[in-house]
Amino acid sequence: MTDTHNLYQLLPDDLAKWLVEHEHSAAQTRGVMAWAYKKQAPPLFPRLLEDLAKLPRTLPAIIERHLSTDGTQKILFALGDGQRVESVILNYHRKLTVCLSTQVGCAMGCTFCRTGEAGLGRNLEAHEIVGMYLILRKQIWQETSLQAPCPNIVFMGQGEPLHNFEEVKRALEILTHPWALDLGPRQITLSTVGYLPGLTRFRELPRVNLAFSLHSPFEQERRQLIPVEARFPLSEIKQALKTMPLLPRQFITLEYLILKDVNHSERHAQALADWSQDLKSIINLIPYNPVAGFLFQRPGEETVDQFKKSLVKRGVRVMERVARGSDIAAACGQLAGARSSCT
Ligand code: SF4
Repeated sequence: MTDTHNLYQLLPDDLAKWLVEHEHSAAQTRGVMAWAYKKQAPPLFPRLLEDLAKLPRTLPAIIERHLSTDGTQKILFALGDGQRVESVILNYHRKLTVCLSTQVGCAMGCTFCRTGEAGLGRNLEAHEIVGMYLILRKQIWQETSLQAPCPNIVFMGQGEPLHNFEEVKRALEILTHPWALDLGPRQITLSTVGYLPGLTRFRELPRVNLAFSLHSPFEQERRQLIPVEARFPLSEIKQALKTMPLLPRQFITLEYLILKDVNHSERHAQALADWSQDLKSIINLIPYNPVAGFLFQRPGEETVDQFKKSLVKRGVRVMERVARGSDIAAACGQLAGARSSCT
């Protein structure tokens, strides 16, 4: 461990090692973590405080905020090297959730998604992911009159989380460690388009919820939406999902973006029911949020209802996600990570 590491990327073992390297007792680890994450009193030893001051602990900086009419907030962060990423604060029935990014841009190139358009900039480091959460939590706490509980997290922002496996793993370990942020793994949902090298390692992560972006039960058609389907086909993803370790009341969420006139026929409903029938899963229908310059369109409410009924009559467990933040381009697939022109 060197003094170039950021405090917010250190797990207790790393911090203990750093303490020993700087001639402090490893027994100080818990107290230092409580000070860093729980705002408890700083360590009492002046020399330790002096050394800790040398350890970088910069966090991403908020450079723009947009507020939707439905209460959703989109936040643009600047990272230490000037790169930018977006996060979203969602308010569903007064339950607050933050949507975090894991990469600057994304390499997956999904054809319905603004983020994938520009390709991958770079991976976020664990301290940047944890840092965004710390800042959003602080902001939520400042804005709510009551001391709100720690917000839940969905990794559904910019980037494919499993394509940045090591840093996301470290961030999850910090977010869930009792000495650090102490979130319950079930408070966190990680979403993937099926990046198989990461999906097959999913069991190495804390037992967070898994959401898989399916969007079509047909491999050829899915490839038109999610190009990595050509490398990691549905048949192989299915095998990985079937062996996923799940807690008793934990389900895999199958995210299904409904694109007008593309993927909501009776044929799709039947194939979707067949594909999911041997998975402990629930299908989450998401009517598409249009992205300027993209060809796909949002389906009408009747279309969504009809598709939902087609699935229910086949015995499929279904829910529907209510769109949030589409007026500020904060909804699924709309994040760009660019400074907006409207401020
Ligand atoms: S949908 Fe997700 S995986 Fe696909 S390009 Fe967008 S951010 Fe990347």
